[in-house]
Amino acid sequence: MRLLVTGGCGFIFSHFIRHILQKYPDYKIINLDKLTYCGNIENTKDFRNNRNYKFIKGDICDKKLVERTVKEVDVIINGAAETHVDRSIIDAGSFVKTDIFGTYVLLEAARKNDVEKYIQISTDEAYGSVERGSFKEGDPLNPNSPYSASKAGADLLVGAYRRTHGTPAVITRSSNNYGSYQFPEKLIPLFITNLLRGKKVPLYGDGSNVRDWLFVTDNCAAVDTVLHKGKIGETYNIASSDERTNLEITKMLLKLLGKPDGMIQHVQDRKGHDFRYSMDCSKMRAIGWKPRVKLEEGLEMTIEWYKNNEWWWRPIVKKLGN
Ligand code: NAD
Repeated sequence: MRLLVTGGCGFIFSHFIRHILQKYPDYKIINLDKLTYCGNIENTKDFRNNRNYKFIKGDICDKKLVERTVKEVDVIINGAAETHVDRSIIDAGSFVKTDIFGTYVLLEAARKNDVEKYIQISTDEAYGSVERGSFKEGDPLNPNSPYSASKAGADLLVGAYRRTHGTPAVITRSSNNYGSYQFPEKLIPLFITNLLRGKKVPLYGDGSNVRDWLFVTDNCAAVDTVLHKGKIGETYNIASSDERTNLEITKMLLKLLGKPDGMIQHVQDRKGHDFRYSMDCSKMRAIGWKPRVKLEEGLEMTIEWYKNNEWWWRPIVKKLGN
């Protein structure tokens, strides 16, 4: 199989490429990544010389480049996106451009080149917030941040291409991922890298917002399952079904790092902060996937990685001025 993976220098899809190259030694992968502020070539260090791997630095909004590249593959997995909610609140332009227009460019190239499968990587945030119960794949989208609205817009476009052009598309919506190589502006790596430097952790509001945390390799295995067993035209929710408040997660990190609760600094809540995300994942279980890494174990592995890889995150936090 020949895959085009976009955003493969970011957090999740560098893990995904590593997973595929290890598990399927005859698959070929092209990674198309613009290397934005959070794209990092170091994330691909251990596999960049693999003979089945090719990196192209470029933008998914670049029609000519995308069409040329798609001619070389059977499957497209679109993981490239602007991903940080706080940045989308300050300026949504690059989110609308990459997450919606970029998806359109890839869908057009998929249509013209008759790809076998197109996998759109979406998020639980597209459904919006829910106080009780869990979203199923057919539920309406009700996004609240410019980030999630851009992701939801892309999902609607993918659905339209499925119905209008018969594009062989599948959508995955996953919950919050965590693990190694995650850019230290997201909650878990931000808090770990702050605590490792003796700095307080900025917790939004009272920390009562609820999130489902999925270890990144579990998401990679899920996308692998969808690649091989996912039915064209379907959408799949991917979550650990282990929901915690942000305060609980923060206290777990403090405990694992041997720091007191006094290291929490409550800061003004995020505008339009979604209270709870929750998804029903029975469709994924029906095609043979389930999460394997328990939260405590995943957090320990993540902390260990950040402790041992200061070379990776120190220059980033310096650049962020954090
Ligand atoms: P990330 O921010 O770590 O990486 C995104 C990557 O996309 C970077 O390497 C960046 O350089 C690249 N990119 C951005 N704009 C591009 C463009 N125009 N052209 C080419 N490349 C571009 O993201 P992540 O956290 O790994 O998320 C990957 C995907 O998974 C995204 O689609 C995101 O919406 C989705 N997702 C993430 C989470 C999560 O918890 N991290 C949860 C659900 C869904």
